[in-house]
Parts: sequence; C-alpha cells; structure tokens
Amino acid sequence: MTPQNEPSFRESVDIMYNRAVELLNIPVGLKKQIQLCNATYTVRFGVRLRGDIQTFTGYRAVHSEHMEPVKGGIRYATAVNQDEVEALAALMTYKCALVDTPFGGSKGGLCLNPADYDEHELELITRRFAYELIKRDLINPSQNVPAPDMGTGEKEMAWIADQYARMKTTDINAKACVTGKPLNSGGIAGRVEATGRGVQYALREFFREPKDLAKARLSGSLDGKNIIVQGLGNVGYHAAKFLNSEDGAVITGIIERDGGIYCESGFNVDSVKTWIIENGGVEGYPGAKYSSNGASLLEEKCDILIPAALEGVINSDNAANIKAPLIIEAANGPITASADSILKDKGCVIIPDMYANAGGVTVSYFEWVKNLSHIRFGRMQRREQEARSNMVIAELEKLSEALGDTWNISEGFREKFSNGAGELELVRSGLDDTMRAAFQSMRSLWHEDERVSDLRTSAYLVAIKKIADSYTAKGL
Ligand code: NAD
Repeated sequence: MTPQNEPSFRESVDIMYNRAVELLNIPVGLKKQIQLCNATYTVRFGVRLRGDIQTFTGYRAVHSEHMEPVKGGIRYATAVNQDEVEALAALMTYKCALVDTPFGGSKGGLCLNPADYDEHELELITRRFAYELIKRDLINPSQNVPAPDMGTGEKEMAWIADQYARMKTTDINAKACVTGKPLNSGGIAGRVEATGRGVQYALREFFREPKDLAKARLSGSLDGKNIIVQGLGNVGYHAAKFLNSEDGAVITGIIERDGGIYCESGFNVDSVKTWIIENGGVEGYPGAKYSSNGASLLEEKCDILIPAALEGVINSDNAANIKAPLIIEAANGPITASADSILKDKGCVIIPDMYANAGGVTVSYFEWVKNLSHIRFGRMQRREQEARSNMVIAELEKLSEALGDTWNISEGFREKFSNGAGELELVRSGLDDTMRAAFQSMRSLWHEDERVSDLRTSAYLVAIKKIADSYTAKGL
C-alpha cells in the first residue's frame, strides 16, 4: 500500500518532470503545454453477462499529440483510474521521444479484474470497450494505437484488431490499429518478450560502462549478480529468464501477489512460472523461503532490484530500507517522487522506467511499420544474404585448398554466419540498437552536465528537448 501522504502517481510524474524541466531554457508556456494531458475520455458501457447487465468504466488518456498516432497500452485492473492513466500517458510521451519512436503518448485502462471473467466474457467486454473507443477514433492506425499492458496480452489485442476490421471494412491498414497482436493476426516476432528483452539490453549496456557501474558500487559483468524481481508477469518473467539463462545472473528473490520467495542459490525462472500458473502464487515453491509479506523482500540484499509489477511500491515508507545499489524500473512508476530523492541521497542508481521498459513500444513501432508495409521483415533479403555468406565461405575454402591448408570451418560458425537474418533477429537487433543509443544519450548528459545528478533527470531532459523542438518546428 502506498502511504497516505505520498504524491499520487500523476503528481510523482509531474514532480520528476518539473525537477528536470527547470534546467531547460524553453518558454514557460511550452513547459506547461508539454506537461499537460491533452484529453482524457471516460467511457461507461454495459455488457450482458450471466443473465444480467454489468456496467464497466474505461479510460483513454491522450497526453501529447505533437506526433501522431499517439501510442500506449491498455491496462485491465481494478485500481485503474483517471490519475493513473494520465500518469502512464505522460510517461508514454516522454518514453517515445527518448527512444525515437515517432508517436505521441496515450494510455487506456478498464476497471476490472480479468481473473473474475472467463475467456468468452472477456472477449465480449473487450470488443465492447474497443467499439466505444473506435467510434470516437480513440483506436485508429493513424491516430491512436493501443498495445498490451498489465492484465492484457495478445488475445485482447487480437479481439481489438478484429473489432476494428469489422467496423472499418475498407481500411487497408486496419491491422495497424493496435500492436502486440499474435503472429497469426498481424503481430511481429519478438513482441511478447520485447519489454523484458529491453530490460536485459538496458542492463547489458549499463554493464558495458565501468564508470556507471562504479556509481552503483558494482563491478564486473552481469554473470553471478544477484537479482530480486517483483512481478513474474510478461515483463518480469522475460527479464528474469533472459538475465538468468543468457547472462548468468542469479534470481535470488521473486515477489508475486501472494508473497515473496527467496533462495540464495537462485531460482529456475520457468519452473517458478509454472508453479505460479498451477498453484495461483509463489507460496509452497519447493526449496524456497516464503514470506506472505512480499514487499519486505524488496528490502533484501541484492545487486539489482527489478520492480516489474505496479507503481508506487517503493515509497517513503520503505525507500530508506532498500539495500540494492542498482534499481531498474521495469514497471511504470514503481518509485514515487519522494522515494526517488531518498534513494538518490543513499547513492542508489536508478535506471528509469521511461527508458528501462521502452522495449515494448520500440517493438510495437516495428509491428506498426510491418502492418503498414504489409510485409514481414527480412522476407526480401534473407535468402540473398544467405547466398552471399555462402559465397564467402566457399571462396575461403577454395583459397585454403589452393594454399594446401586443411582449414575447416566449424559447423556452428558456418550455420551462424550463413543464416540470413529473419524477422526475430532483425527485431532483436533493432531493439538492441535502440536501447544502446537511448542509454548513451542519457548517460552523456548524466556525466557531462553537473546539474544532472541522476539518469531519470537526464532521460526527462533528452525527451523534453525533443518534444519542445517538435512543437517549435511546427507550431502548436
Ligand atoms: P502482467 O499483468 O503481465 O504482469 C504483472 C505481474 O505482477 C503479474 O504476475 C501479477 O501477478 C504481478 N503483481 C500484481 N500485483 C502485484 C503485487 N502487489 N505484488 C507483486 N506482484 C504483483 O503485466 P506486465 O505487462 O508485465 O506489466 C508490468 C508493468 O510493466 C506495468 O507497470 C506495465 O505498465 C509495465 N509495462 C509493460 C509493458 C508490456 O509490454 N507489457 C511495456 C512497458 C511497461
């Protein structure tokens, strides 16, 4: 629970924005324009379920239309409210600017607990919500393109895309009205894993910079680093899984709704995920220390803390007790503005949400481009690339034969070298490139401008500057 006197999520975003924007020399009016949420639509609608009519409340906030379409996920949770969607929409604006995806910011939500409904009921509710948004152009390939967020995934996105296609039968770009769709409905390879994958790429880039590591009182590589993750949903699961299986990090703590589990030697992430699906929570996972107060595990010793569930979990109540020297905000807004100051004073380095979880919107951008171009990435060039690589290998082999060498290319190398890049490889490459470039833009300000004491402020500065330039170039 967030403490009573804590700023709300939107207030926290505003406080952090103000801290950064005061360092920029742009007109006061423009500062205000960039900060304000342009519009928030509330829709209330009824759906006939279980012999009665149940009413639902949903939101779609449009924060900034300096670029269109605006982009942002749709969240299903009982705590969804206007303040929350507006905070999330603002973060989307800044995030898109930071990682150079050509979108404004938006966010939506529906107040419901998806676990209370079966699949057929969820489809009826989602289609009706989508209908309400589509008829107001709040879902539209050129104006407003949603994506998954907490409580939603590929299934909901496929229903939304289909609902749009049914209502706009002549729109040839209908599939681009939403991203995060399954592959068979116009999705893109690598979108499901994208946000967690982005967290991994962000940490890899951070660990390439010894100067940054030193600021977090860390050294070496990710191999063997202890990680505690909160939320083993889409983002947390993929981040923890890749960091463990590909970088050798040790996942010592996992926090879920029902509590937290701890094991010094580390967890097999897939095995814990299966346990959660089968048992409804982490309690009882073999060989682990369980605590029903999951949040207390946030305060446990570790090298890297990954809050990947919801906002406000690190606040003025627990910030002073956090021991992790490095926190990467995989969730949106997990650290409140007051906790941010406390942690900064303690010397904790925070990789901020607007950068850390930008992998999702980055790959959503690729999916939108794929939908508009009506062709899978790599389809034209993959085999051509393969043929050229095979030619190089054949020439090298001929040369070695002519020189009388018995030079053998290993099969592993031959396969890796000659395989042309398919969609998944291209998506991962584009994502890695995006995460590296955005990190470098943040860190150069962090190190070069003495007024910038943390990565969050530099992330805001990079983003606000780009948005301000865009407004200035085209007028309001
Ligand atoms: P999800 O619904 O797939 O997973 C959330 C997980 O958190 C679930 O496993 C849930 O059980 C757990 N959880 C919920 N309340 C909890 C609590 N009080 N304590 C511990 N665990 C709790 O959602 P997601 O898509 O992984 O999103 C998680 C966060 O990442 C959100 O803040 C979201 O805005 C952000 N995010 C998601 C994406 C994306 O592509 N899905 C992109 C950017 C940011």
